[in-house]
Amino acid sequence: MANVLVVAEHLDGKLRKVTLPTITFAQQAAAVTGGQVYVLVLGSGVDAAVEEVSRYGAAKVLYANSPVFSDYLAETYTPAIVKAARETGSTLVCTPSSTTGKDLLPRVAAKLDAGMVSDAIEVFESDGLKFRRPLWAGNVVTTVHVTTPNKAVTVRTTDFDAPAEGAACPVESFDAGVAPTDTAQFVSFEQVKSERPELTDANVVVAGGRGLKSGENFQMIMDLADVLGGAVGASRAAVDSGYAPNDWQIGQTGKVVAPNLYFAVAISGAIQHLAGMKGSQTIVAINTNPEAPIFQVADYGLVADAFQVVPELTQKLKQVL
Ligand SMILES: Cc1cc2nc3c(=O)[nH]c(=O)nc-3n(C[C@H](O)[C@H](O)[C@H](O)COP(=O)(O)OP(=O)(O)OC[C@H]3O[C@@H](n4cnc5c(N)ncnc54)[C@H](O)[C@@H]3O)c2cc1C
Repeated sequence: MANVLVVAEHLDGKLRKVTLPTITFAQQAAAVTGGQVYVLVLGSGVDAAVEEVSRYGAAKVLYANSPVFSDYLAETYTPAIVKAARETGSTLVCTPSSTTGKDLLPRVAAKLDAGMVSDAIEVFESDGLKFRRPLWAGNVVTTVHVTTPNKAVTVRTTDFDAPAEGAACPVESFDAGVAPTDTAQFVSFEQVKSERPELTDANVVVAGGRGLKSGENFQMIMDLADVLGGAVGASRAAVDSGYAPNDWQIGQTGKVVAPNLYFAVAISGAIQHLAGMKGSQTIVAINTNPEAPIFQVADYGLVADAFQVVPELTQKLKQVL
């Protein structure tokens, strides 16, 4: 058996969108290995997430609904995932390339003696299972052949669509056999609460750059995002200048997003910024400099002063939306 195990992510009992493209990746890997896709949900109060994830084409969803997993700790999640991988005959374990996935999967890889691929953007058959992943802010794409029998992969979810929704697959309670640990203790989870959608889940992202010149001027970015029901992002220069909080940063050292619509307002388009947004379906750039590199990736470019056109655009959209 060369099955594939997906570790689902959820927040406040709801399935996180990033799980779905990870299932697509797993399906593509399973098509190469001839195996099946299993999904593991760890947590407490995860019934809704289990029900939702069961509709996306897995062979089976395993869930462990236990207070041991109520707060994420790599120390408790790792042995559960290792056990699930062994019991389901999964030689490939994958997670989204999220903060949790990046924390968790190297530990799982170590326990399974698995070679690891981070940020996979493609899986394919070429004399066995091969993966592609970007390096150097996406300037280079490498092909990786993992030679260990077990493999662990974090998936760049912006490069895979969600699988088609269909009939629910079987779901089964999983005895993880994990006791509370005293080697690590969960202290607190500081969650930024916002009415806006999560940056990596949003269909529309409006991002501002250093050209906005102050934090107060980000208000027009928020206004435009709100009228479109979108999330707000920022370049690193805007974050470093104190105009925007850290968790808004998009790019190589920030979040990777691929919304349907991305506005880059007063952002030059440095390669490190492009690494986090160039997979967006439609890119709109607003910049006073016609030579700004952002225009090379933009579908629509407006050479204009953001202070003039962004409030105008927001007003016009308010009239039609
Ligand atoms: C290792 C490393 C990692 C990095 N990671 C990231 C990352 O994750 N994300 C990221 O974004 N950057 C990252 N950077 C920084 C990156 O190289 C750029 O410095 C940064 O993206 C520039 O941000 P910016 O475009 O907002 O600022 P600038 O380059 O200063 O550009 C501002 C733009 O605003 C325009 N402008 C000015 N006034 C107006 C106006 N009134 N109306 C319209 N346009 C106007 C200007 O023409 C200019 O194009 C990284 C750099 C390194 C070395």
